[in-house]
Amino acid sequence: MKGAILHGPRDVRCEEVPEPRILKPTDAIVRLSATCVCGSDLWPFRGLNEISAPMAMGHEYCGVVEEIGSAVKTVRPGQFVVGSFCISDNTCPHCRFGFQSSCEQREFMTGAQAPLARVPLADGTLVATPKIPADDLIPSFLAASDVLGTGWYAADAARVQPDSTVVVVGDGAVGLMGVLAAKQMRAGRIIAMSRHKTRQDLALEYGATDIVSERGEAGVARIKQLTNGVGADSVLECVGTKESMTQALQCARPGAMIGFVGVPHGVELDGAELFYAQRGLMGGPAPVRRFLPHLMELVAERKINPGKVFDLTLPLADVAEGYRAMDVRRAIKTLLRV
Ligand SMILES: [Zn+2]
Repeated sequence: MKGAILHGPRDVRCEEVPEPRILKPTDAIVRLSATCVCGSDLWPFRGLNEISAPMAMGHEYCGVVEEIGSAVKTVRPGQFVVGSFCISDNTCPHCRFGFQSSCEQREFMTGAQAPLARVPLADGTLVATPKIPADDLIPSFLAASDVLGTGWYAADAARVQPDSTVVVVGDGAVGLMGVLAAKQMRAGRIIAMSRHKTRQDLALEYGATDIVSERGEAGVARIKQLTNGVGADSVLECVGTKESMTQALQCARPGAMIGFVGVPHGVELDGAELFYAQRGLMGGPAPVRRFLPHLMELVAERKINPGKVFDLTLPLADVAEGYRAMDVRRAIKTLLRV
């Protein structure tokens, strides 16, 4: 089969790779209905994460179970499933506490930009739907695997409450999903920070009440102005740079929580500053598995449409173009047909 392999900076290729097979009794093989490119795939693509060997790309997936290992009990061949990008057993103390992305047996999914993927710990990782979903719902189920679950976690970690004021820093796919999540959690005001017209429009469609196009100090000043000098009750930091984290901290009111889900690159925090700022931070790889059953239900009932975040669809063979389009922000998120 053909799969996406990253060979070095800006060199991703669709090339012949071995078909995955069951390696452990707890594995499942899934025939993917679609796959996609993640914002976090851009870090190694841009050469900002060093890679020492060719790397099989892709960690977002949904599809039909093709084969299961002898110990798998909760899913069976023929079922449509969605799994998290974090592999978890869903039984250890961290999983039971709702932090499956810190599972004692955690692994990160790889090799999902391909027609078939091996999912370890299938019982703990995969969630099946009662029936095979309609084709037009596939992008939304695929979104649940990472980008929606991550945006949702940002809102959950920032403790978004009904009627509260929320600021979303970052207008990438995760930030847009954070807006959707805050809306579902019934925030009263959702301020999206974005400078790009198409992303502003989608943010408004997902429930943003205000758009702030300024950045840095000017952006913070604008948020203060919009909140009578107080700041936001919850801030979703969906970028991961020093600038975005600083902006998130400064937009938050004392006592606020910041959910940070952008993988930090060069972010350093000062202990004393944090102490006097009195803002809470909760972040990390999203425990998507905790939210999956609920998110999949919302998708199945067509109460949310996270799949709209995919504004470019390409065949897997054109994976390199999919990365390039996201790299230069021609596309918000690329869906790959397999
Ligand atoms: Zn676990």
